[in-house]
Amino acid sequence: MVFATGNSGKLREASEILGRGFELVTPAQMGILEDIPETGTTLKANSQQKADFIWQNCHTDCFADDTGLEVDALGGAPGVHTARYAGEDKDFNKNMDKLLGELSRKEMEASMMKSMGITPKKDLRRARFKSVVTLILDGQRYFFTGVLEGRIARRKSGNGGFGYDPVFISDDYPDVTLAEISEEQKNAISHRGKALRAMSEFLGTRS
Ligand code: IMP
Repeated sequence: MVFATGNSGKLREASEILGRGFELVTPAQMGILEDIPETGTTLKANSQQKADFIWQNCHTDCFADDTGLEVDALGGAPGVHTARYAGEDKDFNKNMDKLLGELSRKEMEASMMKSMGITPKKDLRRARFKSVVTLILDGQRYFFTGVLEGRIARRKSGNGGFGYDPVFISDDYPDVTLAEISEEQKNAISHRGKALRAMSEFLGTRS
């Protein structure tokens, strides 16, 4: 099945999560070398757009994953703009630095408000990853979602995973970032793990 991604971290995780019953093929292996457009305003729209692109070009069963990081103190940002938060080059270090900077500013504002007697919001670092997976099977679309609740760390930590993992602390492992747990541990709790296992169960009911 074609997985509509050029992200090697996503591909590695999806292969592990779905296991031996699946052979994942990349767009590049199907001869699609350009970036697949992602111009929607929601995760679902972008996920669908990526899967539709593969279906329209290859006419083969496929799936896509669009993931966003929602931070409560930032009104749900970066959300659908997670990949390009700090610019079009999608540099994950710049993205994390921007996020940590924005949250430090929010905390400074909150401590000034506190000194004026205004109680700040409870947990300014509360956040979650959301994945929306679109499966296209015989031309029909199906959607699966997964959420991972947690908090944004004060600084980057760890070398595992990819993307924002060094700054995300899940509620399941509250003392370390996602980049400090094993891939197996991350896949067992992650947004992507939940969405792809739901897709796999659905496919199991059809075979
Ligand atoms: P997209 O779903 O390819 O648009 O990715 C959105 C952004 O979220 C990119 O910057 C990814 O690196 C990041 N991202 C997606 N999944 C994860 C994850 O599991 N951990 C950390 N960052 C992620």
